Amino acid sequence: MQFLNNPDFKKYILPNLNYKKTVYAYFPFHYHIIPGYFRNFLYKKLNINNFTLKNLNKNKFKLNNSHLIQNQENKLIINIDVDSYNGYKNLDKFSIFLKNQNDCKTIIFIPSNGFNYSEQHLLNLIKDGFEIGCHGYNHNGKLPFYNFQKMESFFECINIYNKKFNITKFKSPAYIHTLNSIYFTMKYFKEDWSFRDIYFIKNKFFGTFNSNKIVINNFNFRFINNLEDVFYLNLNLNKKEIIKIIIDKILYLKNNNITPILTFHPESHFSGNKKIFELFKSIIFESLNCLNI
Ligand SMILES: [Zn+2]
Repeated sequence: MQFLNNPDFKKYILPNLNYKKTVYAYFPFHYHIIPGYFRNFLYKKLNINNFTLKNLNKNKFKLNNSHLIQNQENKLIINIDVDSYNGYKNLDKFSIFLKNQNDCKTIIFIPSNGFNYSEQHLLNLIKDGFEIGCHGYNHNGKLPFYNFQKMESFFECINIYNKKFNITKFKSPAYIHTLNSIYFTMKYFKEDWSFRDIYFIKNKFFGTFNSNKIVINNFNFRFINNLEDVFYLNLNLNKKEIIKIIIDKILYLKNNNITPILTFHPESHFSGNKKIFELFKSIIFESLNCLNI
């Protein structure tokens, strides 16, 4: 694990690794058996007490920008994180809309063995210009906590999936990584998309505090640099206020020459919901509008 000596790894990645097993990693079952709407409710209770928009805006400007890299890519990157079969069933709604948006690159992160997807369907999405990424093995939250040998066998399975769909990018479910899972990610992928520049639990802020990417031994760590739907849908904000937080951040990223990354979940309890899907479309329109001025 040579990367451990890298100063950027020490500064941005090491403090953001998970050393303690998360609660659902102890469950003898897959936590998805708890209905999504109920999990959403628990999440809101546990994580988003007392959050104030003012705090986020204040913290945002402290982000470290020492690693600015001139971007020669699309103006906006969209991540669609498909966690479950329910999300997969809603995926076409998103792909049909996103196919017609210029200046937008979409990466669809799917677990390699999470549910029964159609291989032909994924190949058709690639033909339509989408990129497929790997969203873990089956999204049960346990993979990063397996011992080295067990984890290796799982990543070998993941690698078969990678080859089928030309996958180079990994995003760990729930943004959970350990040293061993980083080791295998760097072995089987070219990029990791599992760290966020800033997020909050209760009223505390965490993250890399760097909105751009870092490169370690030719391997890219891309930091997710805008609030994902899971977060803002759980705040007591209206549509206008949600769009304002996102556009504020996009302007900040644009001024610093960093490509914004927006994350959505197609599940019916998140952006796949009929009403929230309209919010998703408005966010894309407004973001592109702001980037094109
Ligand atoms: Zn996920």
